[in-house]
Amino acid sequence: MTINPTLGRDPALAQVGVTPSPLALLLLGRGSDPASERGVDCPGELPPAADPTLAARAAAAKTALGDRVFILGHHYQRDEVIAFADVTGDSFKLAQQAAARPQAEAIVFCGVHFMAESADILTGAHQRVILPDLAAGCSMADMATAEQVEQAWDDLLDAGVAADTVPVSYMNSSAAIKAFTGRHDGTICTSSNARRALEWAFGERGGARVLFLPDQHLGRNTAVGELGMTEADCVVYDPHRPGGGLTHRQLREAKMILWRGHCSVHGRFTRDSVDEVRARIPGITVLAHPECRREVVTAADLVGSTEYIISVVDAAPAGSAFAIGTELNLVQRLAKRHPDKTIVFLDRTVCFCSTMNRIDMPHLVWALESLVRGETVNQIAVDRDVATFARKALDQMLALP
Ligand code: SF4
Repeated sequence: MTINPTLGRDPALAQVGVTPSPLALLLLGRGSDPASERGVDCPGELPPAADPTLAARAAAAKTALGDRVFILGHHYQRDEVIAFADVTGDSFKLAQQAAARPQAEAIVFCGVHFMAESADILTGAHQRVILPDLAAGCSMADMATAEQVEQAWDDLLDAGVAADTVPVSYMNSSAAIKAFTGRHDGTICTSSNARRALEWAFGERGGARVLFLPDQHLGRNTAVGELGMTEADCVVYDPHRPGGGLTHRQLREAKMILWRGHCSVHGRFTRDSVDEVRARIPGITVLAHPECRREVVTAADLVGSTEYIISVVDAAPAGSAFAIGTELNLVQRLAKRHPDKTIVFLDRTVCFCSTMNRIDMPHLVWALESLVRGETVNQIAVDRDVATFARKALDQMLALP
């Protein structure tokens, strides 16, 4: 196993109170497990990571492309990549921004696969969406495959509950899951509007229960924390067990059927993380994302989406102290932006999103320089039928009251 000798000396990690693991963050790309390394190899010549001219090459390619290219940077991306983003934001804001730039022939999405799919669904047919590294997936989105979700719907049909069950799918899902949601007259939601999505599903849409995909924590935190349901109103459908591991009676009596999925980054935070930071820094405000476990959300002072977290920290007076439970690149960036505030990471070990971090300068330069040569690499193109129904579910989200 390779040890990263530079990690332990990273002053940025020390600034946010993180003790790095001595182990390499990601072992992909070595040819040892082809099944899990799909998309890791990029066709063409990637510049070496140590090339000192990478930033200059990216800048030159971007200048040469002008308005023909639009670069989107998710908040969880590395700083050196964010530096080239025309706009930064969460996944839905970025997809909307791409749709608002019809003059851009190429959208370079510095984020993960499901985000690039959403951008392709929302942008015009003349626009190409590029994901610089195809291995930039999302472990949460991968926890719900189209086949598994179709099987779950069959289980709901067998239990006699499908007719009054409404699918509500988190933005962090594949285009196929979004299309499933649209086919069954459900809606997409983000971490900002999950409450409104559930209120619509149980209200105007007339559902007796919701099938919430794929993040069980966002579903539970919204239903129990914001809509006043109880834990007993929620059941967890496990796609790896026959019938989801649930009886027909459990399915019938549930208000929320939560998919057994989670974010491998936000799922790491625990109640102990909160207790430890409160003991270490008395009076600190704990700020958590709703993808965190319920035990973390109930122990936090403030809970909200990535955009909410940024707005709270930006608006706080000098001298404020925050322990933030979200992706580490963003926490580090907030700490750098606010040297007059104490900003620490909620966990004491490294917790980057490894797939977000796949987008690095060599891949960005490769994608941009290919465009300059007239070549489109790593295009994300969603099947037309899938895109139609996924768009329907996304449009339902935009129409939420
Ligand atoms: S942070 Fe979590 S939800 Fe976001 S891309 Fe990474 S694994 Fe997926």
